[in-house]
Amino acid sequence: MHLHEVETIGRDALADLQVGALRATLERARRSPFYGRRLAEAGIGPQDIRTPGDIRKLPLTTKDDLRTEYPFGLVACPREELVRLHASSGTTGASTVVFHDRQDLDNWSDLVARCMYMVGMRPGDVFQNMTAYGLFTGGLGMHYGAERLGCLTVPAGPGNTQRQVKLIRDFSVTALHIIPSYALHFAGWLEREGIDPGDLTPRIALIGAEPHTGEARSRIESLLELKAYNSYGLSEMNGPGVAFECPEQQGMHLWEDAFLMEVVDPETLEPVPDGEPGELVLTTLQRRAMPILRYRTKDITRILPGECACGRTHRRIDRITGRSDDMFIIKGVNIYPMQIERVLLGIPEVGQNYLIILDREQDIDQLRVKVEIKAEHYRDDPAAMAVLHRRIIHRLRDELLVTPGLDLMPPRSLPEAQGKAQRVEDLRPR
Ligand code: ADP
Ligand code: ZN
Repeated sequence: MHLHEVETIGRDALADLQVGALRATLERARRSPFYGRRLAEAGIGPQDIRTPGDIRKLPLTTKDDLRTEYPFGLVACPREELVRLHASSGTTGASTVVFHDRQDLDNWSDLVARCMYMVGMRPGDVFQNMTAYGLFTGGLGMHYGAERLGCLTVPAGPGNTQRQVKLIRDFSVTALHIIPSYALHFAGWLEREGIDPGDLTPRIALIGAEPHTGEARSRIESLLELKAYNSYGLSEMNGPGVAFECPEQQGMHLWEDAFLMEVVDPETLEPVPDGEPGELVLTTLQRRAMPILRYRTKDITRILPGECACGRTHRRIDRITGRSDDMFIIKGVNIYPMQIERVLLGIPEVGQNYLIILDREQDIDQLRVKVEIKAEHYRDDPAAMAVLHRRIIHRLRDELLVTPGLDLMPPRSLPEAQGKAQRVEDLRPR
């Protein structure tokens, strides 16, 4: 197997590399107005970093810090060195902005190309990028990574499924980048049009940008007849290329030469032991224009203990179960949307789309789930659907420990997103 050297670096050598990179990052970061203040207040400088664990001496950074400092407060270089900016999708409020210099863009492309190579893409593959271009990092981020690897890259953008299929056919596309919820719609569309995915050429899909379950991945793989690899990233840490599944598909290697990772208890902010879930906290180790220290991602995951059979030494994180803000409480029970997805997409009669509705009645939060049923199983008659209805309710109750309201919906009746899916509709009065 041909691996980039750093992917199998020994843990001690990696720690040395991280210490050097972290010192350099602090040196740069304190040139920005924001970290200049923060690091002076904390009385911390590069000389205080001797081990990767010394990261805990540094102050945390939150999305609100990035919003308060919008737009230039974290920029650590002269403005004329900046060559690109990206913004977060704004899933949880005002977007944040991240700037890159030329070297940053090169490093980012290398990381993305490394991920693609890892899952079997090679020069000569034809790559169709089916996510939005523009400020969203999944467009240009994946695009330049694929070009760096040497793939003919089709900048298709999202939506217009018919045109996507035409591009795939015309250029014999072999690898796709697609958001999981759109991949499910895409598969449903092929089925309705009577197109056999076995006649299409893609053998690899990179899926990410939004939380999804193993059940969603299995459906994407079997419906599209390809291998789908989980891709994790966030604009504050460039975008795609932060953590990525290898061919083992047992968690995502987080590239520890580029990012220093911590998993902390979101309440106490203390580190949690490996294997325990917590909030992922990330520090850029390579970024020049806008270093970010100890960024609280709000994403909940855990470090997978043990080594990966592929031989890469960078630790793996488990699939993201959601953001800490996605959790809601029904009758005293904490629930994540992904628990609901896991149940629904594990039921064969269930179609490719669902919606979770939160409401409040007499001061008590209520949970209602709307789920599309596949055409061949759907009858417009509640009595005929009663058995299926009961079965889905039982499964949901087993997983969630509360009984939600449930509506079985005809196929294609729920809203389809082209970007990140909006899985939760929150109607609770503020
Ligand atoms: P926003 O935070 O506004 O959505 P981004 O476009 O930067 O903006 O999205 C990054 C976020 O998307 C991550 O913090 C995470 O919540 C989610 N995300 C990205 N990739 C994945 C993935 N593979 N699995 C689960 N969630 C993901
Ligand atoms: Zn591996």
